[in-house]
Amino acid sequence: MERRASPRSSPSVRRSSRRRDGTCSRRLWHVRNSSFTLTTVTQVPVAAGLFTWPSPEPQLIGSKCAACGTMTFPQQQDCPRCYGNQMEESLFEPRGTLWTFTTQEFIPKSPPYARKETDESFRPFAVGYVEFPGQARVEGRIDCADLSELRIGMEMEVVVVPFNRDEEGNEIVTYAFRAVSA
Ligand SMILES: [Zn+2]
Repeated sequence: MERRASPRSSPSVRRSSRRRDGTCSRRLWHVRNSSFTLTTVTQVPVAAGLFTWPSPEPQLIGSKCAACGTMTFPQQQDCPRCYGNQMEESLFEPRGTLWTFTTQEFIPKSPPYARKETDESFRPFAVGYVEFPGQARVEGRIDCADLSELRIGMEMEVVVVPFNRDEEGNEIVTYAFRAVSA
């Protein structure tokens, strides 16, 4: 995990923890804890065929139409543009740019949102689209300690982050986007 080594995310976490009500310090503990336990916890992708894993530089796995070149994520059987059915597995670039995003400032209603958080543990988060030049725009959650740092057009990389745990105690991981440290 590169999270702790990032010169950009560390100061912002500290800054957040000073001005918030303890929410961020719990997250800081979580981040530190998850990186300590990486060697002992089995990590399992949330679904097969979504991203390259394990990988030092994860990439999303999409499909590309042999006829018109349209790319999709996740993989599809048929092309949404020309309706051709010759879709081939194709990797997205590891980096793209933030095309647009929105923030979720309060805990979503459940159902339909499958939540594990309580009102106390919920943290605002962002979702957005990352544009992979010449490929496609992909929606995903944005992994970010300080939402105010997000800017449309900033360079983003694909990362794999903890998502949940299954009944065996394995850590389920999924993809997210994170701003590339300057
Ligand atoms: Zn096509």
